[in-house]
Amino acid sequence: PYVVTDLCSGCRYTECVTVCPVECFHVDERMTYIDPDNCIDCGGCAPICPVGAIQADFLLPADKQAWIGINRERAALTPVLTQRLPPLPGAPALPQGAGGGG
Ligand code: SF4
Repeated sequence: PYVVTDLCSGCRYTECVTVCPVECFHVDERMTYIDPDNCIDCGGCAPICPVGAIQADFLLPADKQAWIGINRERAALTPVLTQRLPPLPGAPALPQGAGGGG
């Protein structure tokens, strides 16, 4: 499955939920998480994340592999998110035209 990493934390642009065909995404007050049992590895979410927070599990560098377990644990404890939310106040500004589309 795909995995949301710490780059999402405090940012949470939630572009990912607009492309996921199977409602994988869960959310808390800081970031999103992917339910690994629902993810069908379509790959749609990774390129659309404006901060590059999402990666296939087998491509994660060693220092990000803890996020595989964190996504599984947090997805089980948090509600499904199916619509975009406003980014968090601390989210980095994006170049014009990025992130706001679809
Ligand atoms: Fe959803 Fe596809 Fe991303 Fe998996 S890879 S979380 S199915 S958009």
